[in-house]
Amino acid sequence: MATDEMLQGLMRNPERLKALANEAKEFALQHGVVMRTVETPDSSEVVTYAPFTLFPTPVPKAVFHQALAVQTHFNTLVDKISQDPGFLEEALASTIQADDFTAKLLGIYRQVQHEGRTQSIMMGVNRSDYMLDQREDRTSSLKQIEINTIAAGGFGVADHLPVVHRHILRLAGLLEESQCVPDNNSTAGIVRALAKAWELYGQQNIYTGFIHYLRQGGYVFAAVCLFYRYGDMPNHYKEKTWEARLLMERSLAVKCPDIGTHLAGTKKVQQELARPGVLERFFPDQPQVVEQIRATFAGQYTLDMGPEGDQTVAMSLAKPDEFVLKPQREGGGNNFFGEDIVRILEEVKGDKRRAAYILMDRIRPKVEHNVLLRRGLPLQLSSVCYEIGVLGAYVRHGGEMVLNEVAGQILRTKSIEHGDGGICSGVSVFDSPLIY
Ligand code: ADP
Ligand code: MG
Repeated sequence: MATDEMLQGLMRNPERLKALANEAKEFALQHGVVMRTVETPDSSEVVTYAPFTLFPTPVPKAVFHQALAVQTHFNTLVDKISQDPGFLEEALASTIQADDFTAKLLGIYRQVQHEGRTQSIMMGVNRSDYMLDQREDRTSSLKQIEINTIAAGGFGVADHLPVVHRHILRLAGLLEESQCVPDNNSTAGIVRALAKAWELYGQQNIYTGFIHYLRQGGYVFAAVCLFYRYGDMPNHYKEKTWEARLLMERSLAVKCPDIGTHLAGTKKVQQELARPGVLERFFPDQPQVVEQIRATFAGQYTLDMGPEGDQTVAMSLAKPDEFVLKPQREGGGNNFFGEDIVRILEEVKGDKRRAAYILMDRIRPKVEHNVLLRRGLPLQLSSVCYEIGVLGAYVRHGGEMVLNEVAGQILRTKSIEHGDGGICSGVSVFDSPLIY
């Protein structure tokens, strides 16, 4: 790869590397690749560049298109699961015995299900994350790491980064490569969905209801759409927050996501979907869709109490380096690898606490090289691997999907010394694909 040769050359010329990195940061600031700082998270006076790679990372065209092509099916799948209380109850039955957070979310789901839904418009924004698993013949296959159905973020930065990466490639003399970094318009896709939800909401003729409330002299919390940027982690909630979540769930607002869609993104649901025959339940007459989705699934195993879970325990203790142990958590930094799997499982394997986790085959991505630009990090060549996130946006009105789109991609790259990832947890940085 030309970018690899360029990086090797830059390592022999630290002055040039520094100049290029400075230019990249400057250009990033000018083009909206910005983030608040850790020290002043609430300040709009001080920002820094969002961490990113000096060069875009080469991604094979076929897998890139495969990831984009399957996204609308994942949108449909998530949406179908969200409306299937029988499936969610069964899938999460053991998890809620061991995981209080999931239990509380399911409690809200049950309550609104029981009371009847107030809003028939539903908006979804999700991000399906993948890594490329290296096979022995050195080809690689696209494997889903997880799907995020709440608070999927980062798209603003991902939209702005291609301009920066093309600029850096041109400065480095890699003109041809600069034409292989695609534009990204995630924000526009998500806004289209928001506009659609708003338009449908306007047709519902419910404003009179608000006026009625106002006349009574009280106040009304009127929101057309509730877009969650938080709410995916237990530490986002206090008692009052749980009350607010229920209030919002019961409200007339379009929720992005509603509680069922939030639950559809749990790691336990992902593991259950990987069982033979389960996808067919959601796509009974569409074997090609089933095949397309299933092709992206890595091996996943239950840790529920019972013989199947016992087998998972034995298998992971025998070869801990081949698996990842995942609790029902989001945001990076929660998974266990290698000897940590042994440590955790030795502690919980005998009782229902183990059902708070699922086990997954560990993906072995190809090692790439890049310079990670992050405040405080030295300028150095790192061995890295990347994760492709594909954003999907959709709107359902009653039983009908009225908008179902792929809304672009986000690449996140990390040094291979880390098992787990995450931009906010300080491990991964933003990246763009260089399609070849
Ligand atoms: P979270 O909700 O915390 O983001 P993920 O399932 O995305 O949980 O896992 C976090 C990170 O852990 C991923 O970004 C990836 O770097 C690593 N990871 C997760 N699953 C696997 C896997 N099966 N193989 C290799 N790495 C994984
Ligand atoms: Mg993740």
